[in-house]
Amino acid sequence: MSRDSRYDILFEPVKIGPITTKNRFYQVPHCNGMGHRFPKAMAAMRGTKAAGGWGVVCTEECEIHPTSDLSPAVEMRLWDSSDIPTHRLMTDAVHENGGLAGIQLVHNGANVPNYFSRMPPLAPSDMATTYRHPLQARGMDKQDIRDLRRWHRDATLRAKNAGYDIVYVYAGHNMTLLMHYLLSRYNQRTDEYGGRLENRVRLVREILEDTKEAVGDTCAIAFRFAVDELMGEDGMRWNVEGKEIVEMLSDLPDLWDVNIAGWENDSLPSRFGAEGSQEKYIKFVKQATNKPVVGVGRFTSPDMMVSQVKRGVLDLIGAARPSIADPYLPNKIKTGRQDEIRECIGCNICVSGDFTSTPIRCTQNPTIAEEYRKDWHPEIISPKKSDASVLVLGGGPGGLEATLALSKRGYDVTLAEASDELGGRVVLESRMPGLGEWKRVADHRTYMIAQKPNVETYLNSRLTADQVLEFGFEHVLLATGAAWRSDGVGRSIIHPLQATVATILVSVDHILKGGVVDGKVVIFDDEHYYMGSVIAEHLRDLGHDVTLVTPSTMVAEWTENTMEQRRIQQRLLEKEVRVICAHSLSVVGDGEVTLACEYTGRERHIAADTVIPVTTRRPDSMVYDGLMGKSDVFADTGIKSVTRIADCHAPGTIAMAVYAGHQFAQELECEVSEIPFKRENYQP
Ligand code: ADP
Ligand code: SF4
Repeated sequence: MSRDSRYDILFEPVKIGPITTKNRFYQVPHCNGMGHRFPKAMAAMRGTKAAGGWGVVCTEECEIHPTSDLSPAVEMRLWDSSDIPTHRLMTDAVHENGGLAGIQLVHNGANVPNYFSRMPPLAPSDMATTYRHPLQARGMDKQDIRDLRRWHRDATLRAKNAGYDIVYVYAGHNMTLLMHYLLSRYNQRTDEYGGRLENRVRLVREILEDTKEAVGDTCAIAFRFAVDELMGEDGMRWNVEGKEIVEMLSDLPDLWDVNIAGWENDSLPSRFGAEGSQEKYIKFVKQATNKPVVGVGRFTSPDMMVSQVKRGVLDLIGAARPSIADPYLPNKIKTGRQDEIRECIGCNICVSGDFTSTPIRCTQNPTIAEEYRKDWHPEIISPKKSDASVLVLGGGPGGLEATLALSKRGYDVTLAEASDELGGRVVLESRMPGLGEWKRVADHRTYMIAQKPNVETYLNSRLTADQVLEFGFEHVLLATGAAWRSDGVGRSIIHPLQATVATILVSVDHILKGGVVDGKVVIFDDEHYYMGSVIAEHLRDLGHDVTLVTPSTMVAEWTENTMEQRRIQQRLLEKEVRVICAHSLSVVGDGEVTLACEYTGRERHIAADTVIPVTTRRPDSMVYDGLMGKSDVFADTGIKSVTRIADCHAPGTIAMAVYAGHQFAQELECEVSEIPFKRENYQP
């Protein structure tokens, strides 16, 4: 297919200092939980993005010195020349696939624990470290400043040696030392590096000049700068100091990479903001510099990208999450296949990899971080091994992904879905407040499957085990999902709760399917992800009196890993949902429930007409159990395998269901070793 000419502008080259990028697609730095620990996996992931058409592909943040040791988070390191071969893997992978490689050098100042290096963290002035751990950062003296400049310069030279085309000076989040120098709330120095803004900018200017002087003949120098922190006058504001800083440094860097801080504002989940939401903060930058500008906004729509360029907001379309969800996004637009883009849904599951110090994962793209260790590719999959046909039961995220990937392999697939719509839980959940974009998980796969001649889809087809046996498909895949328990059994409730005359127990599914409830609602959240909070929000919007009770000390605790927790709790409190933390729910009484403090066991009673437990789900294994009970007739009916995956196997996230579906398709009729991935072990 040929490209839509409206998008030609996205494929224009852009000059960045001494280099030129072939198009406007720019993968900005993003963490991935692989870095220095799994360098081959990291390099393969970056190389795949370059192959997918991203003109520039950057590293994650890269520590320049052991005083900036982010352990246990896994980032890149360039502490000395022994780190260079690791980086060569990345630059070679990007160059071989036609991209330019950028490196985001960082010193994280007071934002590091230095657990591994055991060195005191550094800051402009003595201060608490910026996250909770019992060590302060020490204020830097003049020798420290000279050292920092030397470390940065040395790392810059090593970066050039490693083959990078773009070298960053990084003050793009409020977790970097250079940003701490810019911010008066951290920089309380009284010398020429503190006080008025010109002084606070001095170190950034010096490091930009050092970097340019060291490698500026061949490498472009990017400055990543957070123009706003969304905290009013206590922080950076785009229309006050943010603007002044851009004007002061205007043409010093070769490229402005601008965003808002902290990271939770920058990588805003779709629940709290739409595509392009940073525009109002960063659009002034192009007026203040002659150099190209890149920025992010979870851009997945080529029309939006074109609009950003044509309206003079950005020169380069920056992307972290859209490039994770679809590494081939640029090539799809280039070849007129923009309808095939696997659009990021803004769930921030990708961030959870970094927060748990494990390789990145993505709800939309099950192949991310599996390019090296499993040889998975986001677009290419090995052909089928036989002419066997496959029956997939269940059109949720697991069944849909399996169907799509199996059909790409060339298998004939029959997909049977009990309801009148494909998408399973995704369709239901995406109707809840803020989760609308999540439907993209189903929409993308439904669209792709509809193009496949080797897939037959049957809606309104709830199959039984006997019917499956009659059909005689060689491979049967069960992705029949799970149902929320209404009896509360989960982590803290062991014995099923009993409803009473005046207080009923209602399942999450009842609400998701549009069911109504009566009176005062108590939601008991012992799952700790998003569901408790969206049900609370939904019922509050309908006018109910809602109390959310959780044994955790905060609402939706696990969403700290997706950087949503603060906003979720804030939203519930603003909507006047009553929040009771650190309490378990033990008894349902007539018109009330009994709660017990997690620490003291002290009991209290609160009014409740309806109780909605958000605890665990029961896998729907009816068909699976039915089939396994008759496994002796498999040979006669032609069945070679029966497999269950995803929520009907072990209920989990949508990302896990998609991954399980993809894994099934990848591995069907293939030999899989007991440890099903390559490891990066020490080689003597
Ligand atoms: P997962 O997340 O594992 O993909 P979901 O719960 O989202 O699971 O989707 C499971 C889908 O399977 C639902 O759309 C449900 O209607 C469908 N389903 C359940 N049982 C059957 C069955 N016996 N035959 C066909 N479809 C089924
Ligand atoms: Fe987007 Fe979610 Fe994938 Fe992250 S995990 S890239 S937010 S779809």
